Amino acid sequence: MNFVILLMSKLGMYILKKLNKGSSFPGYFAKRCNKNILRYFKIPKTTIFVTGSNGKTSTATTLANIYKKAGYKVGHNIKGSNLTDGIITCLIENSNLLGVVKSDILVLEIDERYVKEVFKVIEPTYFIINNLSRDQLARNGHFDIVWEDINRNISANTHLILNADDPLINKFSINHKGKTTFYGLAKTKYSKNKPEVENLDMTYCPICNTKLDFKYYHYWNIGSYSCPTGDFNRKNPKYESKLVNDEYFTIDDMKVKINNTSIHNIYNLTACYAVAKESGLEKNKIIDALNSFTLNTKRLENIKFANKECVLLISKNENAVSYNQSIDYILKQPEKKSIVIGFDNVSRRYKLDDLSWLWDVNFEALKNDNVKNIICIGKFAYDIALRLKYANIDSKKIIICTDSNEMVNILLNKSTNKFYSMFCFEIQKNLNKLLKKEGLI
Ligand SMILES: [Zn+2]
Repeated sequence: MNFVILLMSKLGMYILKKLNKGSSFPGYFAKRCNKNILRYFKIPKTTIFVTGSNGKTSTATTLANIYKKAGYKVGHNIKGSNLTDGIITCLIENSNLLGVVKSDILVLEIDERYVKEVFKVIEPTYFIINNLSRDQLARNGHFDIVWEDINRNISANTHLILNADDPLINKFSINHKGKTTFYGLAKTKYSKNKPEVENLDMTYCPICNTKLDFKYYHYWNIGSYSCPTGDFNRKNPKYESKLVNDEYFTIDDMKVKINNTSIHNIYNLTACYAVAKESGLEKNKIIDALNSFTLNTKRLENIKFANKECVLLISKNENAVSYNQSIDYILKQPEKKSIVIGFDNVSRRYKLDDLSWLWDVNFEALKNDNVKNIICIGKFAYDIALRLKYANIDSKKIIICTDSNEMVNILLNKSTNKFYSMFCFEIQKNLNKLLKKEGLI
């Protein structure tokens, strides 16, 4: 029976590929036919799973490339299909009809909430947990729920690769019976003595509930922390990166270039290095692979039209850390600039208009002389403008545009020649459509 399901799923996959439509449909179909299909596969000896609120796709893609460069045959859910169906699709793609996965190694990114489904069947050899923060509140609920969900499904046979700088991630090591390896980033010139926002996710010790002392913050609650009673602190990471300048950082005294000047990017690359090294790859080979690989990311893109240059920073709604990442990047650019912010739907999955996360974003940082104006667009333009007002941004700097037909005019007339946009995918698509309609691109 499973043989037939796999045959049909593979056929479906072949047709979808011919139509240029990659999707997790084959996995969905196979699971509909047999809800235990995941158990049918014979998994390779080494499996690496990656999870976290941010950076899963970048980390897993970079890691898959490291192993490919080292000559391994890698199975990888390349399109970021990280729910159970996506993972089954990846297994279908890499297995024969008997369910034997032909890859030497599996590198799978997994959604935080699907760990409980998949780990019941596949026990990872290595499990990278990069960060956890408030994210998609309507879907996930509190981050403690997500933490519990992950934690109770980790087996002692799994080697954890944990970000030492995130106290919530370090917490996974407390009761873990198996191996744990920490990675982290040393203090940099950008480290802050104070948190950027007051409502951080984890500020109390998970063991004794005393308030944690932070020596410095890289961003959010990521940094160097310790409990005054001495029972919980940032572990000395086996793999610690050091930022040298905006171009590169070092790890194990070897230089690694940074694709974009973001601390998140350094964490992703350091996590890859740590697991690759732990799994036995040679240091030089890993560094070469990191330096020769450019991640094809849609999160940072440039569009040119008329005399304008728009730098698109895809910012994920319901995820304050993702917005803060974009704000950090924009403020690092020295010139005077306009910023465009907006979205039409809060969630891509649910019809819920929860805007509480907007109040977690560090919009206060935009009160900066180099910000010429901020253009609020989309269905929630007034909500964003209100939030900016509470961030004490001069109201003369705030422009509201709810009519998408007006958007192009406003951008042409009010924005600086090079401007930055914090969009979700849908607004980016709309803007492209409007610019095409006007014959500007
Ligand atoms: Zn404590």
